Amino acid sequence: MSIADVIDRAKSQGRTVLTEIESKQVLAEAGIPVVPARLSATAEEAAKAAADTGFPVVLKIVSPDVVHKSDVGGVKLGLQSEAEVKAAFDDIVAAVKQRQPEARIEGMSVQAMARPGIEVIVGMSKDPQFGPVLMFGLGGILVEVLKDVAFRIVPLEPRDARQMVREIKGYPVLEGVRGQDPADLAALEKLLLQLSEFVEKHPEIEELDLNPVFAYKDGAVAVDARIVVA
Ligand code: ADP
Ligand code: MG
Repeated sequence: MSIADVIDRAKSQGRTVLTEIESKQVLAEAGIPVVPARLSATAEEAAKAAADTGFPVVLKIVSPDVVHKSDVGGVKLGLQSEAEVKAAFDDIVAAVKQRQPEARIEGMSVQAMARPGIEVIVGMSKDPQFGPVLMFGLGGILVEVLKDVAFRIVPLEPRDARQMVREIKGYPVLEGVRGQDPADLAALEKLLLQLSEFVEKHPEIEELDLNPVFAYKDGAVAVDARIVVA
């Protein structure tokens, strides 16, 4: 399905927020590296999808009503077998029903467990004055509490991307601390430039979050994605 088709389908269903699966489809289409995710409606289907994908896998709730999947018990990591996948499917349904009873559940997204990397986040939001603005920061507490992020107005020049990844206070983390691999800065810069081009080409996209992106010494990949359209 093309980007326009995915967006049209969401709109025809009265939704402006694309699911993780839809968001990743659209991003992959644009050449942006994501861990692809498949929708499974039943535990049986999820077990099959997991076997196709190869273990270990991750299961995540797919619901138009759930914004933060882990907050409602909607994410299970590192599942090693079909039996674990089936059990995780039922556990997630039970957890979500308990914590958010009104949430409509479409099923689970099944995806490969990505190898660990440095967690960064990349986002786009629209400023009333400047239009689309890209944001880059480290994942987790550093971003939420310290607001340690860099912003640039779209379209980005290569120089903007270079500066963004280097100007955050947490930059030494990207260089590698305590024996951890450094992040592939060129891959992060490329991701920022690809996203800039992507949002410029699709003005109907109001908001975009890749949270987190895993940065490796060789490449980077988004493990979660969320796109909001007008
Ligand atoms: P949400 O942000 O909606 O709670 P995420 O999809 O971001 O859910 O998953 C929560 C956390 O689980 C992520 O921050 C990441 O650390 C981990 N995670 C998610 N997907 C994967 C994956 N495919 N491989 C490895 N870790 C993952
Ligand atoms: Mg997330």
